[in-house]
Parts: sequence; structure tokens; C-alpha cells
Amino acid sequence: MTQSKVSHSQNEWDLLITDANIATMDNSIDQAYGTIENAALAIKDGYIAWLGKQTDLPAFDVFATPTISAKGQWLTPGLIDCHTHLVFAGSRAEEFEQRLQGVSYEQIAAQGGGIASTVRATREADHETLFVLAKDRLNALYSEGVSTVEIKSGYGLDCENEIKILEVARLLGENHPVDVKTTFLGAHALPLEYQGRSDEYIELVCTDMLEQVVSADLADAVDAFCENVGFSNEQTRRVFNAAKKHNLPVKCHAEQLSNQQGAQLVAEFKGLSADHIEYLDEAGVKAMADAGTVAVLLPGAFYFLRETKQPPISLLKQYNVPIAISTDFNPGTSPLCSLQLMMNMGCTLFRLTPAETLAAVTRHAAMALGLADRGMLKVGMRADIAHWQISHPAQLSYQLGVNKLLNLWILGRLN
Ligand SMILES: [Zn+2]
Repeated sequence: MTQSKVSHSQNEWDLLITDANIATMDNSIDQAYGTIENAALAIKDGYIAWLGKQTDLPAFDVFATPTISAKGQWLTPGLIDCHTHLVFAGSRAEEFEQRLQGVSYEQIAAQGGGIASTVRATREADHETLFVLAKDRLNALYSEGVSTVEIKSGYGLDCENEIKILEVARLLGENHPVDVKTTFLGAHALPLEYQGRSDEYIELVCTDMLEQVVSADLADAVDAFCENVGFSNEQTRRVFNAAKKHNLPVKCHAEQLSNQQGAQLVAEFKGLSADHIEYLDEAGVKAMADAGTVAVLLPGAFYFLRETKQPPISLLKQYNVPIAISTDFNPGTSPLCSLQLMMNMGCTLFRLTPAETLAAVTRHAAMALGLADRGMLKVGMRADIAHWQISHPAQLSYQLGVNKLLNLWILGRLN
């Protein structure tokens, strides 16, 4: 049965889009783009009410239904950026320049640079300053077809400032057409005032910090950086146990620089995703497959750090682990605010196909956020729809620098 079956004789829709080619990304149609050519799509109350071949369109009120022609161009689900650190102040451009002049990371850190400088600048910034900075970045993503963005805290590293970042993220969601999901990442780095006392800091993250975040309903998920320069597997477990107590799903910055079995840990908690994962091994891949944990690849950080260790793409495919791709937009390791650039890098750096990269920023990115109402164009899903001036969906991964977006509906609304 196709989605063209309807029970009404006369449909009342808010909008009908005709003359479209649709990459539904619905894997029940096919494993590539889920393409329906010469198609139409109808929206009612922000959701997709009908879609299928235009020749199968059921009866509808032609006088009452606003209709637009897609002019033979393509529709895809709105893109989803499932891993960003969008809210921060300060810039690391000078540090970038110093490093290229041969100054070591250790020297920069000793001068108060690196993540410490971002934390300092973010702590000093007020809500409004952070909001304005982050809004520009959100606009950049939105302009290339992104309709859902995840934003993490993690540059405050104390109660007051972690809360401030999450409040700004929530405020962005309320004041911008893009749907924003928030993640508490108190366990991102050890703040300077806790040097040598990482267990005490983790205790703060798991108690006061998380409790305040939860009581103000500021987070949709909890994340931790499980790494030898971040937090240990055991400390990450404490964070996940605390999240579980509050019924929050978990995610993990895992296996970016070494194998700390962070992916296995997040899988043990039936977590949403393990992110980065260049150093992931087969046991970790298996654990993720069994738990339904999504692999989030971050090619921007891979590129910017000039990493050479590839994530285990063929193992992930062999075990059918869903692969998502995200910008990881942040000032230190991925100052690259373009999801389309990441799609291109997914192909060039990780040898994914354009169909795999499009699934990675739609269907699989939705799964990485635990969202079952988007990521595909299908009856009953949110009408988050990008309309592109392209002749084939592979063009989205292929060409950069030319904005191909014609329209972006979010919850059925054009903004
Ligand atoms: Zn990250």
C-alpha cells in the first residue's frame, strides 16, 4: 500500500505543493533517496497530510487550497544538525594563526588559550550577547536548509553559566523558526578551578548542576566527553547514571582521540548516539548495533584537526548502525558552520555516498536526537520540507558555495 490511499472524498489542506520530485528519505520505499518523481505533497496543521504521485492526487477543494508549483525541482526533508556547540563567546582565530606559526598547543594553553579562553569569554558574556552571536550562526545553518538543530552547553562549566547557555539555546528555539533541541554537556572539560579534582567536578555535574538544569526543564539529553583529555569511562558512567535518574537520554563524545570504550558505555545505557568515533573498535560497533545507538560522524573536526584515523565506516555498515553527520560547530576544533560542507566531507573524507550523507543529515540525524516525527517526508511527519533548485539530490553533497535552497517550510510554515 502506498501513502496515496485516502479516505476522504474532499480534502481540506493548508497547502498543496505540486510538480515536485521528492527525495522522501523513507527507507520503506528504497534504501537510497526514497524517490517519488512527478509528485505532490499536501500539508495540514504543520504536518504532511498527503504525498504521492501527482496522478494519484485525491479530490480536494481546488478553490480553498493554496497551491504552489515546485516547478519540477526537488523536495527533501529539512536538514537536521544533531551535534553543535552553537552558544559561546570569543574567537580562537588568533590561536589558529599562532598554531600555524608554530606555537604549540601546550604553549597556547599555558597562555590561557584553548578551551579555557572560550570558557572565560562565555562566562563573561550576558544572555543577550550570547543570543546575538548564536543567532547569526543559526541563521547560517537555516539558510542552507536546516530545520532542526541540537545545541549543547559545555563552555560554562559551573552552575550559573551552564544554565545561562541552555537558557540562551531555549530562547533561540522560541525566537527562531528552526526547532532547537538542547543537550547538557557539563562534563565537556575540567574547569581551571577544579584542576586535579576531576571527581569533585563530576560530583557537581551529577548533583547541583544537573538538578538545576532538570528543574528548569533546560535539557532534552545529557552528553559527556569520554576521553583521556576529557573524563574517564568511570566518570562518564556517573554522569549517565545521574541522567538516567532524571529520565534523560544520553549521548557521548566517544573514541575521538583514543579508545576509552565510551561507545560501549553509551550503548549500555541505550544511549541515542556515540559521536566522533574515529578510534571505535568492532566490539563498540556491535554494542551500538545491539542498542540502536546512532553513529554521529563529525568530519569537520576530523578535517580541522588533520586527523588521519578514519572512523570504522565499513564495520558500521556491516552491523547496520545508522550513520548521522553533523557540523560539531565549535570555536576550537570545527569552526565550520555549514551542514552542506559536512555532507561534502562525508563523501570526500569518509567515502560515504551522497544518498548516505543525505540520510545522515535527515533520517539518521533525527534518530540521533530521539525524534520520530521528522527526518523523512511521510504522511503524519512534521512538514519540515526543503525545496532545492537541483537536478538530482546527489547535488547537495556534490556542489558547494552556491545556495541551492529555494524554500524551507518548518512545521508547514514558510518564514
Ligand atoms: Zn562536540
